[in-house]
Amino acid sequence: MTAPGGARLLLLAPPGAGKSTHGRLLAEAFAAPHISTGELLRAEIAAGSELGRRVEGLVAEGRLVPDDLVVEMVVRRLTEPAPVEAFVLDGFPRTLAQAELGYAWASEHGLTFSAVLHLEVPEAELARRAAGRAAVSGRGDDNAATWERRMAEYRLETEPLLGFYRARGILVEVDAGGGVSEVHQAILTALWAMGLRPVRPARPA
Ligand code: AMP
Repeated sequence: MTAPGGARLLLLAPPGAGKSTHGRLLAEAFAAPHISTGELLRAEIAAGSELGRRVEGLVAEGRLVPDDLVVEMVVRRLTEPAPVEAFVLDGFPRTLAQAELGYAWASEHGLTFSAVLHLEVPEAELARRAAGRAAVSGRGDDNAATWERRMAEYRLETEPLLGFYRARGILVEVDAGGGVSEVHQAILTALWAMGLRPVRPARPA
């Protein structure tokens, strides 16, 4: 059995913990769209849209984009061109204000999260991954200075969300220091225990 309308998952983790990798794998497993606010913002910037021009500098510096802009962008993605019932969200909410606005909207639309996955990775391992990623990602915000800032934003703004979701009984702590398939399996096991079953078999490791 899975949640009515499908699984609605959130990946909550510091930069470099594997949100996009596991977001993509979970989206495949649950046949749900992977919605990454970082990717949506980068697409707006690449397209030179009005939103893109407003957020370009902030994203390049690793600073958070204003809450109202991100909330509006996510709501649009969840409702247009067709309403989405299941999803794997990565990178939103990232502040308590976003979590509260998102929760109010999702409650009204029957779209609150089924589970929030906190990917835990030791800070030394995150720093090691960040250095490797800066060399290959091609992302303008993947460099040592912005990584430090994004980590600081995470600690200050995003970590408090753990308590918000823990209080709602949907927070799942995942040890994400290991390899990709090992972590993916650990996530599936934890979700299975909550009654959230993938609709597609896992890819062979
Ligand atoms: P990410 O790809 O998730 O690491 O996001 C890249 C950048 O996009 C972040 O460093 C922020 O500048 C911006 N961003 C993504 N999601 C959010 C959000 N929910 N709130 C504010 N800024 C965001």
